[in-house]
Amino acid sequence: MNPLLQYFNTAPFSKISTKDFKPAIKTEIEKTKKEIDVIVSNTETPTFENTTVPLDFTGEKLGRITSIFFNLNSAETNDEIQKIAKDISPWLSEFKNDVILNEALFQRVKMVYDSKDSVSLTPEQSMLLEKQYKSFARNGANLNDLEKTELRKIDTELSKLSLQFGENVLAETNAFQMHLRNKDDVAGLPESVQEAAQQLAKENKKEGWIFTLGYPSYIPFMTYSDNRELRKKLAVAAGKKAFQKNEFNNELIVLDIVKLRHQRANLLGYKTHAHFVLEDRMAETPEKVLSFSNELLLKAKPAAQKEFNELETYAKKLDNIDQLQKWDGAYYAEKLKKERFNLDQEILKPYFKLENVIAGVFTIATKLYDLQFKEVFDIDKYHENVKTYNVTDTNNNFIAVFYADFHPRKGKQNGAWMTSYKPQQIKNEINERPHVSIVCNFTKPTETKPSLLTFNEVTTLFHEFGHALHGMLANTTYNSLAGTSVSWDFVELPSQILENWCYEKEALELFAKHYETGEVIPMEYVAKIKESASFHEGMQTLRQLSFGLLDMQWHGQNPSEITSVKEFENEAFAETKLYPDGAENCMSTAFSHIFQGGYSAGYYSYKWAEVLDADAFEYFLEKGIFNKEVAAKFKENVLSKGGTEKPMELYKRFRGQKAKPDALLKRAGLI
Ligand SMILES: [Zn+2]
Repeated sequence: MNPLLQYFNTAPFSKISTKDFKPAIKTEIEKTKKEIDVIVSNTETPTFENTTVPLDFTGEKLGRITSIFFNLNSAETNDEIQKIAKDISPWLSEFKNDVILNEALFQRVKMVYDSKDSVSLTPEQSMLLEKQYKSFARNGANLNDLEKTELRKIDTELSKLSLQFGENVLAETNAFQMHLRNKDDVAGLPESVQEAAQQLAKENKKEGWIFTLGYPSYIPFMTYSDNRELRKKLAVAAGKKAFQKNEFNNELIVLDIVKLRHQRANLLGYKTHAHFVLEDRMAETPEKVLSFSNELLLKAKPAAQKEFNELETYAKKLDNIDQLQKWDGAYYAEKLKKERFNLDQEILKPYFKLENVIAGVFTIATKLYDLQFKEVFDIDKYHENVKTYNVTDTNNNFIAVFYADFHPRKGKQNGAWMTSYKPQQIKNEINERPHVSIVCNFTKPTETKPSLLTFNEVTTLFHEFGHALHGMLANTTYNSLAGTSVSWDFVELPSQILENWCYEKEALELFAKHYETGEVIPMEYVAKIKESASFHEGMQTLRQLSFGLLDMQWHGQNPSEITSVKEFENEAFAETKLYPDGAENCMSTAFSHIFQGGYSAGYYSYKWAEVLDADAFEYFLEKGIFNKEVAAKFKENVLSKGGTEKPMELYKRFRGQKAKPDALLKRAGLI
């Protein structure tokens, strides 16, 4: 018997063999199709109860199996799993397409939607109905046949172009290598960076060092290399990715993509692609994103200019540099930062033993939200190093299962993320609690030392745990609205806000203790961490805003008149420019976030989320970072509510007002 097709509560990892996935997923796709057939063939008038709700509950088992599968593919993969992923991904997208294009199903959904004003629905029910209807409408369900054909054509073309865009960037990234032979050429670079470059040279059967445009090679070189000419060489090579006169040039692709996106938006009844994208975001319209960005720009620009001038003076003093160039920024900033703060990660690490940090984040969750975490050993897991916890409230009510997978190993993707194995929902009056997981790649323990985290790893743990709280405290009826199922520009609030506790004395005293002596981290270190965190925040902000504004320019207007990518980009950058422009470089032709990935008209979200988290944390600062009342409001209106109401409404109910940028500007030292 296939264990995936049996009943299970927590994921039955030890019983599953890799070959079980394909047949189980196939079976469940067919079963879900039948569930949908039942809804469609219902002869009664469509209602919320006989259409919207059952449609939301379809494919429950399919969802659980695919979540196990894709989580394994990220955290504990192998060739076989990767091969299966390639096979089943088309099945799943075909199935999803079949649902979206199911005309009879859409007609029922639409009838319920059109009659929504004559029935009384709770806010959550309204959101569910809206979300369901829009999932069809935004994919063209309301178009006539001719328009539908047109839309499919655009979609096919767009996915080809994005793919090509990405392939070109990758080809250009891989085509460049900087091969150095003299020891002098690697001056300034840390030992580990030199070793990696040496290793790469060896792999290429060469002597010396090789640097590439890949981030792990590029970033350290730009930050530490003493050789200005070589920094320039690498920076210029990076800046002309997919902007050279060769087969990998992305200029026409960029223009085609923005024009097709605009056409698509028009076809669906939206003014621009940005209007289409932002409709279901917290920001709602491009106009709001622009006024938000411009307000921040007004404050950040003078600070950025001041920082830039300071940096230029510093470079002049140090190396007699007259005009600071793009390839100088990271290098002199690093030197200045070191001079100013002299903050050595190695001094901090003993205060952040992994076990202490976990205990600390749990204590904070107890103080704020009355949660209790108990490590348990009877829950099936996919790797012996995964930890499992039973989460309860103070009355011992079961809240969630929490998995934590901390260290890197072969078969695990880089980075850190939160995910889930079972969503929260209320079904047949039973509140089914979620199974939530965080996966990280933290410093491993050695034979002589426990796992000691860098400060960056500490904030990462808090960040992912913040997402996990959003998942664990979910309290909604419909699982498609539960936990982190919220709009993109709202989903980072619970994660980013928790990072703030890492900088507070009252919180650090709970867990930041030297692993040998038990001494609490000296507050002068904390002050330095805090100060250095906002180092060059003006320039950072300006840079983020410049990308967000460029994105909004590309997608927030009719692009039919644009002929030159470079000219258009220069105009978009006019307000945010600090460094001299290089004619042979272009950002847009390698801006993968918006032309390859799914971030188009969404780049602003990074800053948007920062404004939210700073403003929300300000409330805690006013009343006390462990204030029960504020915590209860945050839990009630944000953490437990998921996407059951519009994020702006939820936020205002928590905060009593809209978010203002002041707290962020203050935290960043800009006002
Ligand atoms: Zn996040």
